[in-house]
Amino acid sequence: RHQSGRSYVFLRDKAYINGKWITSKSGNTFQVLNPANGEVLGTVPDCGAQETEEAIKAAHDSFQSWRFITAKERGAKLRALFELQIKHHRELAELLTAEAGKSLKEATGEINYGASFLEWYAEEARRIYGDVIPSSSKNKQLVVLKQPIGVAALITPWNFPNAMITRKMGAALAAGCTVVIKPASDTPYSALAIGALADEAGIPPGVINIIPSSIETTPIVGKTLCESPLVTALSFTGSTHVGKILHITCSCIVKKVSLELGGNAPFIVFNSANIDKAVAGAMSSKFRNSGQTCVCSNRFLVQEKVHDEFIHKLSESIKSQLVVGDGFQPETNIGPLINAKAVEKVSKHVEDAVLKGGNILVGGKQHDAGENFFQPTLITEVQPDMLVYKEEIFGPVVAILKFKTEEEAIALANSTRVGLAGYFYSEDISQIWRVAQQLEVGLVGVNEGLISAPEAPFGGVKESGLGREGSHYGIDDYIEIKYVCFGGL
Ligand code: ADP
Repeated sequence: RHQSGRSYVFLRDKAYINGKWITSKSGNTFQVLNPANGEVLGTVPDCGAQETEEAIKAAHDSFQSWRFITAKERGAKLRALFELQIKHHRELAELLTAEAGKSLKEATGEINYGASFLEWYAEEARRIYGDVIPSSSKNKQLVVLKQPIGVAALITPWNFPNAMITRKMGAALAAGCTVVIKPASDTPYSALAIGALADEAGIPPGVINIIPSSIETTPIVGKTLCESPLVTALSFTGSTHVGKILHITCSCIVKKVSLELGGNAPFIVFNSANIDKAVAGAMSSKFRNSGQTCVCSNRFLVQEKVHDEFIHKLSESIKSQLVVGDGFQPETNIGPLINAKAVEKVSKHVEDAVLKGGNILVGGKQHDAGENFFQPTLITEVQPDMLVYKEEIFGPVVAILKFKTEEEAIALANSTRVGLAGYFYSEDISQIWRVAQQLEVGLVGVNEGLISAPEAPFGGVKESGLGREGSHYGIDDYIEIKYVCFGGL
């Protein structure tokens, strides 16, 4: 039991390697805190190079058998995992709220969303088809096999401590790969809980390995995963900065790399938009997880004629709908930011905007609910030289810039080196087609603020990443294509 009086059924305070719960060789551990109140939830082993090597070996050994069981059997194991995650959704959501801060309602949403990838890939496992290609010579047959790539390293962030793992792991396991998971240092418990579920689902030892590491030890774990020839794929979700380091490190052995990196999502409201719909979309795309998702709208571009109405209605919604507080309180829909560093960054962004002429209409400061809380904030008169415009805010801050023409909006939206999500509101069908086609992003929401789904491909263009997750395309990152030529026929 914790000082809050809560106990967490799925809290596991060991690493999970080869089906066993282990401590680190060094005996080093690190603490996991509840971001809402600073409470120490517990400690976990600080895994280093040695534990990483052990996990890689376990995954590599188990790959030799996991790859050869039938796709139907792998699907059945994933299905069992899906059912357990749904069965225990409440306990898993509580653990998630405790370590990540998001409201219990959102945490429950994430557990269900995370489970949906296990369900989807349980089904997809049996549909990883190869090809037979019509040959131009009579005495040859050309056949394409899809084979699992091998051991996949999965490095995941704290903002979706369950779903970012299941989205990668579901595809990897369905394809016949085995995995080594390195969860974010802030949120290892939701990852380790997956190990507990895997035990119960009868997933063979070594197929899933989970090695938490502290912020200090993480770089050596990352390096070991990238440089090991036994790890044939690396899938990372996190910052563009770290993604680039991993990409470079993997290049030394030409490892297949999938990257889901940061975005700077434009949210464009055209004169033709239905403003009430746009306001509702803005609320959901901006404030989910307190603004801490890589697809959160970051730059609001609003056309002249509807600018004032949009701002007025959005401010009213922010003031009337958002309740900041501890995620366990039932009325809360905005929890804390993940840690003090995150609050510092958001504060810096807001101060910079004010210095450069931004106008704060709502919020603008830390919230008195606690050290890691920030007020939902709305800034107008934003300019392209401000940090809120140039960088990912990762907090509950709406930054609004006024524009005149469609061409100008598209040029502004595309004037960045990243391209993950983009949203726009318009009721003009020709404009909808033009803009959807021209936005330099991997995901477009047209009159919709929540676009993620297990059936749909998720991923970015430019410096937002490589590869796609979810959907049938998500399998490709874990597959090698082998061409077999049958000659002399
Ligand atoms: P964020 O800003 O979301 O914390 P990071 O990119 O720092 O983004 O973190 C995403 C994941 O990458 C986490 O699991 C984190 O521990 C891990 N990570 C951070 N630095 C490194 C590194 N040098 N090598 C490998 N993984 C890293």
